[in-house]
Amino acid sequence: MIAQATTIPPLDLTRYGKSPFVVDAVHHVAKSADALPAHPTLQVRGHLVRTACGKYGWCAESGNHSMHASAYVEAPTPDGYGDCVLPANIMAEDEAAAFAPTIGFLDLDLTPAQTRVRCAELRVHLEKVEGLADKVDGRAPLEPATDCYAVTAPGATGALLSAEIFRSDDEDNPRSVIAVWSQPGEAADLDVAGADQLIADLEQFLPRLRALRNHLATVEAGK
Ligand SMILES: [Zn+2]
Repeated sequence: MIAQATTIPPLDLTRYGKSPFVVDAVHHVAKSADALPAHPTLQVRGHLVRTACGKYGWCAESGNHSMHASAYVEAPTPDGYGDCVLPANIMAEDEAAAFAPTIGFLDLDLTPAQTRVRCAELRVHLEKVEGLADKVDGRAPLEPATDCYAVTAPGATGALLSAEIFRSDDEDNPRSVIAVWSQPGEAADLDVAGADQLIADLEQFLPRLRALRNHLATVEAGK
């Protein structure tokens, strides 16, 4: 079997200076890169090319290494200092200080489940940040008590999904619920632009559904 080959990118040890965990990780990467000559190498078009990690498909390390690390993903928007925000990657160690793959995020070593919890919390946080923009713009706040929120796909004539607070007038069973429904027969065939539009609309719908949920929770707590 011929091992896959990748070129080794230059290491930038200053880039993640705000995060001790990540800096340690980058130093580890630097050390394992220093130890590379013992491993088989290839010469392709005059460039030194080292063999890819044989253990993890996500690992961006090459050559002989015990510290596995994926490339970083980071938010596309840098902060005011030009630094990346919310960098994350996967790491694992084989030898003395062995640990199974974890996700390095927010200066923590997280399991996949913990990572998903953090991401869900951050999504809610971003909605609150958008709410600040709405306040400055003077945009009307969400009205979960009265408004019906709906999502329509490009090409569909009616809403695919609608949601609103519904209050039962039944004296024997007075209660409020979030009524969720779709219009019968609604469907759409989406191209890439249509899919982008639906995704954007669903992303706008979610904070509205969450507002309905929070309103319902308030109503139930006040019973
Ligand atoms: Zn590796």
